[in-house]
Amino acid sequence: MSESLSSHSIGRQSLPRKSTIQIAPYPQSYYAATKSKAPERTSLSRAVEADVCVIGGGLAGLTTALELQRRGQETVLLEANRIGWGASGRNGGFVSAGYSEGLSAIIAKSGLEDAQALYRLSREGAAYVRQRTAAWPDADINPVEGRLSVLRTDDSARLMATRDRLEKDFEHATVYWPTERVRDALQTERYFQGLQDPDGFHIHPLNYALALAREAEQAGVTIYEGTRALALERTGGRHLVRCAGGQVAAGTLVFCTSGYEHRLFRPLTRALLPIATYMIASRTLNEEEQQAISIPYAISDERRAGDYYRLYRGRLLWGGRITTRREEPKALGQMLKQDVTSVYPALGRLQLAYAWSGLMGYARHKMPLIGPCGADVGGDGPPRDGLWMATGFGGHGLNTTAMAGELIARAIVEKDDRWKLFRPYPLQPVGGALGQAAVQLTYWAMQLRDWLDERRSA
Ligand SMILES: Cc1cc2nc3c(=O)[nH]c(=O)nc-3n(C[C@H](O)[C@H](O)[C@H](O)COP(=O)(O)OP(=O)(O)OC[C@H]3O[C@@H](n4cnc5c(N)ncnc54)[C@H](O)[C@@H]3O)c2cc1C
Repeated sequence: MSESLSSHSIGRQSLPRKSTIQIAPYPQSYYAATKSKAPERTSLSRAVEADVCVIGGGLAGLTTALELQRRGQETVLLEANRIGWGASGRNGGFVSAGYSEGLSAIIAKSGLEDAQALYRLSREGAAYVRQRTAAWPDADINPVEGRLSVLRTDDSARLMATRDRLEKDFEHATVYWPTERVRDALQTERYFQGLQDPDGFHIHPLNYALALAREAEQAGVTIYEGTRALALERTGGRHLVRCAGGQVAAGTLVFCTSGYEHRLFRPLTRALLPIATYMIASRTLNEEEQQAISIPYAISDERRAGDYYRLYRGRLLWGGRITTRREEPKALGQMLKQDVTSVYPALGRLQLAYAWSGLMGYARHKMPLIGPCGADVGGDGPPRDGLWMATGFGGHGLNTTAMAGELIARAIVEKDDRWKLFRPYPLQPVGGALGQAAVQLTYWAMQLRDWLDERRSA
């Protein structure tokens, strides 16, 4: 790595004192209100050593730490707040194959063969979550089978072509639903055809994260909560991660900080755009309301930034919208309720129980950042300096974080080089405030195009 690590550090003098440690509580979400029992871990208060230090206690960090420790690496995980506090404990809970970037764009950049390999990896990630979830029946993760994507424009040819391509090129069989079948299951005229993915399912994501943490600790990982990595230094051939109350010395670091990364490692800060999305959870629906959505699937529409929702334990969990604005809008609940009733007028009396937001980390290319993050990323040399990243999963992180955790652990310990499939998707600056403005404009343009397309179908 050509750049010295200390040039990325925010400087020792700016470290807060131990007494200023602040741990943000979980947001007031449905998941936090129904989370399973979990211990609160202490903050780091001394100097420790490890083979690997993983920074970030979301699904990416937890899976990476677990898989490293299982392979004999003594691993310490640092989480600034609580396990699953970030996007991992706030999301829609959909688990299915694929990435935030669409398949056509992946084929265009990677070529068909590598796109197929990438897709297989993403399916392995979904299978990983399924296996883990089945192994922890007491963890209250409550997996529910079924995933349906629906169109808001009348375009059977497009959906059939998607189905055919998935089957022919990616060996993934899905089921085409004509409009009548969709409208039979979902009481709305907003939707046309649908594509059912029999491999897709949905879970309680925070309980999954907490169970992963438990498993990681049982395997030997040491987890510190309330421990923000504040600065990085290089000393005696090792990396030193400085925190308010202590420090970790490790040969290898893995960055899993996603949309919540804040000036820890400049190349990552510059490459990740935090994008907010919103969710609500209703009170338990009455029988009449439940008829509006008569299938227990994870449902989303195929607009460029569409709605995603599901009935879960009798409630409606509904998510939607994306924005580069970080502050939560005051009328967040009402805003999303309007989205619900614009699709399902029968849910006009829906009573809300929770509304929350979360940040996703997006790279410019909308693919995850997986691999070594030295200056040679993208080149042919071996990974330098023991700096790795598993981050930037965007809005499709439940399967891909699992896949990345395994991939990174195998890469570090077994020299598995499948991470190289992600070389066409390197660390690239997103362009700071200008980049954010460009994304927001793109989103508005996408909304406008979606609206025009829908008008044509109406
Ligand atoms: C509302 C919402 C709905 C979504 N729905 C879905 C869905 O249905 N299906 C799907 O596949 N994906 C979904 N996603 C995306 C998915 O949740 C994310 O891609 C995934 O959880 C990212 O996991 P992560 O571990 O990379 O990041 P996070 O879960 O965000 O974890 C990052 C962690 O790093 C910690 N951290 C940051 N900086 C530091 C530091 N310096 N020191 C120590 N710790 C630090 C943070 O506190 C945080 O806990 C959704 C996201 C949101 C926000």
